[in-house]
Amino acid sequence: MSDAFEQENLNSKELDFLSQVSIGLTQNSAPEDIMSALAEAFRSIVKLEDLNIFLYDENTKKLRDYTKSWIVIDENRDKAYTEKLYKVVQEAKYDDFLINDNSINIKDFWDINKYISTRKNTILFPLMKGNTPYGLIELVINLTISDILTIDFFRALIIAAYQISLKIQNKVLADKMQANIDFYDSMKNIAKIIETQYDLNYIIPLIGELIDKFISDHLIYIFLNKNDKFNLVWPSDCRDSRILEMVNNLNGDTQYILADDNKMGLFPLVAADSSILGCIVAHSHVDRLSQREIDYIDQLTKQSSITIQRANMYAENLQYATLDALTGLNNRRQFEVRLKQEVAAAKRQQRPLCAIMMDIDFFKKVNDNYGHAVGDEVLKNVAEIIKQSLRESDIPSRYGGEEFAILLPYTRLEEAGSVAQRLRGNVEAKHVDLTHVKDAKISEIQVTVSVGVYEYKEGDDPQQLYTKADKALYYAKEHGRNKVIINRG
Ligand code: GH3
Ligand code: MG
Ligand code: MG
Repeated sequence: MSDAFEQENLNSKELDFLSQVSIGLTQNSAPEDIMSALAEAFRSIVKLEDLNIFLYDENTKKLRDYTKSWIVIDENRDKAYTEKLYKVVQEAKYDDFLINDNSINIKDFWDINKYISTRKNTILFPLMKGNTPYGLIELVINLTISDILTIDFFRALIIAAYQISLKIQNKVLADKMQANIDFYDSMKNIAKIIETQYDLNYIIPLIGELIDKFISDHLIYIFLNKNDKFNLVWPSDCRDSRILEMVNNLNGDTQYILADDNKMGLFPLVAADSSILGCIVAHSHVDRLSQREIDYIDQLTKQSSITIQRANMYAENLQYATLDALTGLNNRRQFEVRLKQEVAAAKRQQRPLCAIMMDIDFFKKVNDNYGHAVGDEVLKNVAEIIKQSLRESDIPSRYGGEEFAILLPYTRLEEAGSVAQRLRGNVEAKHVDLTHVKDAKISEIQVTVSVGVYEYKEGDDPQQLYTKADKALYYAKEHGRNKVIINRG
């Protein structure tokens, strides 16, 4: 082969390498998969010791590892070396690269060999967006005396870097768009919750999880104002006393407050009359909130304010209501009232009384997989089955989210046990029709329930009737679900 030919055209080895890179980039989309495909391609052409891709995060002005969960590289590496990496993304021009600390351009190729050593060589290659680098490839290869790095290898490397760069830019863009879509889906979700839900125990974790999903580098806390004191309602624990202190110093502010170099953001939940319902806090020790994240939380906070205010109003109005709005069963409050009455009557008249506690199995998954409108439909159907399976004198209630409590006056344990079995079987057999549920991804769904049963014993107080049935329910959950457990204790 003539020299000229060698300089103009890539060898089949390099061409193979490039086609492997192309295939690897088209067939994979997860960063880890892309990286292993690239490593494989590199191994076909050089003795690869290490391969990394770092991207420059404009927001935090840090280089982050593309594959290793986006960690900032600085902590794990030698300081002088890290500085070099930063230099590449700050200064590199098109076709520039570094070999063992020496800045090279492909045009200087004839000098290249003097920078190459046998054994370990580190090549840093910029990833360009137009004329600006936005990341780099770090390639560590081993050479033996007999190896030479040809100009073809570097030409192939430039082409590969260009392809990799395009792929990553596309991926980052697609992820951003997906995040936007997810965000608007979430907003829609919150809007739906506003329409149908009034139970803060259900709403608050949902809001927390939604925000958590978009702000992955920060811890999210939700506080609610009760008699001018802020109480943490999500998650269950906040170890950072400074946050509590800041929240309690909020002082009627209605605009969000950024502190600590944007590592902490306080977003007040503001009612229509400008009173403060609570606040949402995003906090990190390392990462700053970007403007985009701030806007996200701000919008979500505003939506959540409406939801929470509605829930509060609902709760006030519902104080005197006895029925649950979604299922038409007795609500929790009414359950407590009837529980006391029935226990008193059972005592007085020496008649039997049983309690059944029932909880839908893996209900969270129904919500998570198919949306909360499907969850609501399931709740309505289960409630309907309960109504249909009981006698006139039985007292069914929606105790909480997906928990039902049933009081069975004049009923002995064995009989209550078979009622429970019948309920369990009817729920299991039911195909919940979803064809009229908007945006449902499936046309029907089946669920199961776990059930606990207990019969009132002399000396039990009303609360015990409930807790002993609930204990049996808990046991049913622990032992495989879709089960009826009778507590004879
Ligand atoms: P397990 O089998 O252990 O009971 O698991 P689970 O997922 O059913 O239990 P978990 O208590 O973890 O989840 C209950 C879920 O019920 C969480 C909450 O989102 C959901 N939920 C509570 N109230 C409502 C409601 O009114 N509508 C809808 N769609 N979901 C609700
Ligand atoms: Mg459940
Ligand atoms: Mg439950």
